[in-house]
Amino acid sequence: MAQETQNHTLTVSGWAAHDSSGEIKPYTFKRRENGVNDVTIKVLYCGICHTDLHHAKNDWGITMYPVVPGHEITGVVIKAGCNAGKFKIGDRVGVGCLAASCLECEFCTNSQENYCDQIQFTYNGIFWDGSITYGGYSNMIVADYRYVVRIPENLPMDSVAPLLCAGITVFSPLKDSGMLGSPGKKMKKMGVVGLGGLGHVAVKFGKAFGHHVTVISTSPSKETEAKGRLGADDFIVSTNSQQMQAGKRSLDFILDTVSAKHSLGPILELLKVNGTLVTVGAPDQPLELPSFPLIFGKRSVKGSMTGGIKETQEMMDLCGEHNITCDIEVIMPDAINEAMDRLARNDVRYRFVIDVAGRISNL
Ligand code: NAP
Ligand code: ZN
Repeated sequence: MAQETQNHTLTVSGWAAHDSSGEIKPYTFKRRENGVNDVTIKVLYCGICHTDLHHAKNDWGITMYPVVPGHEITGVVIKAGCNAGKFKIGDRVGVGCLAASCLECEFCTNSQENYCDQIQFTYNGIFWDGSITYGGYSNMIVADYRYVVRIPENLPMDSVAPLLCAGITVFSPLKDSGMLGSPGKKMKKMGVVGLGGLGHVAVKFGKAFGHHVTVISTSPSKETEAKGRLGADDFIVSTNSQQMQAGKRSLDFILDTVSAKHSLGPILELLKVNGTLVTVGAPDQPLELPSFPLIFGKRSVKGSMTGGIKETQEMMDLCGEHNITCDIEVIMPDAINEAMDRLARNDVRYRFVIDVAGRISNL
């Protein structure tokens, strides 16, 4: 389809899933020429988000094959349109989940374009010109400058890539819930459910913002690292009923990043009265939400969808200041399938990042 769209003349090498087996194979396709508002980016690195896996396997029933996943993209500008903001050739930039929005609604005009009801994503979306969008598992991407952020000079391009989705997806609800932390602000007791790509960044942010962080995990083997390298204060194994019992009514705020169906009931019990649980995980089945832990604790459950571009830049700059990056395993493109299999088995510490340009970059 995209190949037939006018002005889609740029030939790009990438990697795509072609059916619900999810198997990723090399794939050559076309992208649009660089428009006045566009920047063309040589992709250096791209993180493998669990959302990529959901799409490759059509977990949500919305995949348009062939799908070129990838929305944790870092690279260098190789072409800039005359109206492409302040971007110029050679700039270190990142692209996350968003490719287009209406630019006019109350959300677009308030830097919350992630809630525009015409939002289109970096892959498996339909761009303004009617073409299907293809993501960052590819050697080059053309992006409208309004959906591109700058990468701070002091941060490495590989371990910064997952911030473009995992990072902003946990940063946004923390900010929204007044958890960014500033001098004089009270430390909160924060829980993070699921220590994967999103969860491990949430722990780092929680600690950077001065909170007491408890990890709630199904994997006892992650405890040492969670408390050591990531700096978590506590670790609860969610299948251990004694530990769950001991943790009742202990937390002010919980971020649930779990990718599979589970019950929110036991997790809600960990919240204090009036506490808030924000769920960002996107399982293909509805979450169980029993009413008793909700009503007995006057607790709230909310959702949150990635973040706006202004907020993404704010997060990036903050990560630059605090030197926050992600814990990654870098792989070459020919190992994407193996990485996806390991991600499905919950065997990654804590994000795979594809070295798309095929070299160790010092950019
Ligand atoms: P991930 O790296 O696979 O991490 C998910 C974690 O969930 C796992 O590490 C595991 O942690 C836990 N988990 C897995 N299966 C579980 C099960 N059956 N029961 C309980 N816990 C389980 O995935 P991710 O990339 O962080 O993404 C997480 C979810 O967020 C995905 O559904 C993704 O699509 C979604 N997402 C949403 C947004 C948004 O805008 N809202 C953005 C990005 C991603 P433990 O081993 O610690 O239990
Ligand atoms: Zn993602």
